Amino acid sequence: MISSEFDTIAAISTPLGEGGIGIIRISGKEAISIANRIFQSSKGVNLLVVKTHTIHYGFIIDPETGQKIDEVLVTVMRAPNTYTREDVVEINCHGGYVTLKRILDLVISQGARLAEPGEFTKRAFLRGRIDLSQAESVIDLIRAKTEQAQKIALEHLSGRLSKKINELRDSLMRVCAHVEAYIDFPEEDIDGLTQEEIQTEINRIKEEINKLIEGYEEGKIYMEGLRAAIVGKPNVGKSSLLNALLMKDRAIVTEIPGTTRDIIEEYVNIKGMPLKIVDTAGIREAHDLVEAEGIKRTLRAVELAQLVLLVLDSSRPIDSLDEEIINRVIHKKIIVVINKKDIKSKEFCLPEVLKDKPRVEISALKGEGIEELKELIFNTTISGKYEQEGVVITKMRHKIALENALQALNNALQSFKEKEPLEITAMFLREALSFLGQIVGVVTTEDILNLIFSEFCIGK
Ligand code: GDP
Repeated sequence: MISSEFDTIAAISTPLGEGGIGIIRISGKEAISIANRIFQSSKGVNLLVVKTHTIHYGFIIDPETGQKIDEVLVTVMRAPNTYTREDVVEINCHGGYVTLKRILDLVISQGARLAEPGEFTKRAFLRGRIDLSQAESVIDLIRAKTEQAQKIALEHLSGRLSKKINELRDSLMRVCAHVEAYIDFPEEDIDGLTQEEIQTEINRIKEEINKLIEGYEEGKIYMEGLRAAIVGKPNVGKSSLLNALLMKDRAIVTEIPGTTRDIIEEYVNIKGMPLKIVDTAGIREAHDLVEAEGIKRTLRAVELAQLVLLVLDSSRPIDSLDEEIINRVIHKKIIVVINKKDIKSKEFCLPEVLKDKPRVEISALKGEGIEELKELIFNTTISGKYEQEGVVITKMRHKIALENALQALNNALQSFKEKEPLEITAMFLREALSFLGQIVGVVTTEDILNLIFSEFCIGK
């Protein structure tokens, strides 16, 4: 499959819509000749002979009709130092759907094929420029919601995770070689790891794998965000809190109880962690239909949330409605947000059930205590494992492969301890190796690749 038989592909690589510039990217053996057939430079530049990584000014012309399509800059990049390791041409034209589409149509009419989602990156992988985990990080880089998420994705793209996985594979291969040496030369005194050392080494590798698995939840949160619901009875200050967190007036703040009927979703950047906040209507018995629908949605939002910000109004005593809401959310991970501290009443008393929950006093109206709240959200979610380890996994696919590798290592140890034939131990060790290999893509199938790259956008 890794051959030069790949056809030439093309796609619009910039988002569709109006913009200053749009880019059409072409990759493959025919890329430069296709571009050359539709490009006309006032200086008579022939793209077929220009140096690699050079930019040329001119026009895109329909070769059939001679009609001018757009004024462009064309970048010519010759294999192998390109994104795909193939010849790549990028046409910088004016942004705007019609121009981009017309140029793309021309490129296609000249023999290129429309690229599938992620196909450029897939080629970078198939041609060996990057491994599979690096290729997957491209999508994380594009979708990163905070600087921290972007940093992690870039680290993966630069190969930090691959390096870690390859180190583990190397160690495991060494263990495997020793076990297999025992199989081949059982009688001989092998100058290598003792059986005890082999077990110690397997345990060390297991520990490393475990650490990676444990980091997954946090890695995922950095990438996808933590879902939090703001919950409380009407008028406690939920919308005001959302606004204070967002520092912009998105949700409608109103004095009439029960008017935040729609669930609003927003992302807040909490020290690099994206918090996906759902501002909800108050949970309470409803009398009209719209309100009842709102409550149903609130309860659903609470169930889906990984964190509940339970807002209480400290300007008045807790009442039965607060208690009912507390009952509905007490099974969840909660941060108690005691609002309106600027007008706190002496009669306000924190309910006993909430005493052991993390809490913070704020004034959403005055913007006080918001930083403390953000700090609390961060500290109750992020343990700092990523900072310690310097590498974190963010993909379910990687987690599953690591768990499978771990299971195979446990089986290997077990068979070793039970003095089963060493062939069995070796088989389990090879299995673990293969699972680790899935992460970086040394072991893969067309199905896995299709699944991974179908997540991408076209043009990447
Ligand atoms: P929601 O129904 O829970 O979303 O509550 P709102 O955010 O709409 O707030 C209800 C009322 O309480 C509004 O008049 C807000 O201005 C007021 N409010 C919200 N937070 C505070 C606060 O910290 N202090 C004071 N004094 N009033 C607040």
